[in-house]
Formats: sequence, C-alpha cells, structure tokens
Amino acid sequence: MLEMTINTSALLKEIESVFPFVDMPDKNELVFHKNDCFECDGLLNDLDDYRNKEITGEAIRLVHQELSSLSAKGWRWILPHYLRFCLTPEAEYNRMETEFIIYSLRPSLEFQKDTLLRLSLLNKDQINCLIHFLMWCENQQHWKDYCLEDISKAKNFLSSIK
Ligand SMILES: [Zn+2]
Repeated sequence: MLEMTINTSALLKEIESVFPFVDMPDKNELVFHKNDCFECDGLLNDLDDYRNKEITGEAIRLVHQELSSLSAKGWRWILPHYLRFCLTPEAEYNRMETEFIIYSLRPSLEFQKDTLLRLSLLNKDQINCLIHFLMWCENQQHWKDYCLEDISKAKNFLSSIK
C-alpha cells in the first residue's frame, strides 16, 4: 500500500467532503437485527433520545461499544459524526471511541460478512476515507504503540472491498 502521512486538518477536510451528515434512519432501519435482539433493541431505545438532536460526544460514547448493532443505514448515519469526533481533543480523554471503531473495522473471519453488510452503503470515496482515517491513527504515537496490528488488519480489510 502507498505510504503516506495524513495530518489532522487534511483528514478533517476529507471527512467533511465525503461524509456529509445524513438524517438518523427511521427506527425500523437503524439497527442490524430486525427482531428480538436484546442489544439492538436496547441501542434503538437509547438512540431514539438523540433523534433530531445534535450528535455530541455523549451519543458517540453511547454507540461506541455497540457499532455492530447498527445497520448499514445506521453506519452511514453515525460515521460522519463519529469520524469527526475522533479528531477532537474530547476523543483523547479515554480514547475508547477511536479504539472501538478500529476494532470494528478489522473483523475476524466469522464476522466479515456482517461487517461488509454494515459497510455496504458507503461509496468508494467513503471507504477510502476510512482507510485514510486508519493511516492517520497509524501516525498517532498512542495508536501506533497500542494497536498497530489491528490498524493494519483494518486497512487490509477495507482495501479488499474497494
Ligand atoms: Zn442485534
């Protein structure tokens, strides 16, 4: 893969250009499992409090461990907020939000199919932007020290679906 350094302001510009905000999907389209899934139902109820409200760090912290419970439309909705959040100083407090988006992009074999489904509404520019986000993580000392291998796996996974 082409080696490149991506600085924060360039990445933010790219995110703003390829990930415009979209409305939160309707309740019946927001989560991954349609029926009787405890996690999905819980997330659905929690997220409904944020409908028509500003999506702040509070909402990002709410979803960060539940990313696999969001549908493809849910991912397309949250990513513009999520990626911007990861570039803010607020994301450096406990760093869990960035950690979990990295993990959710490097599924083990058994979860690759579901992950591909969740990413299926993203266009090519958006997938590329996710790869650039991972390259940016790679250049942050914390993430480089902490989970370089996960970042590489995620980059490879996303590159394979371009
Ligand atoms: Zn579920």
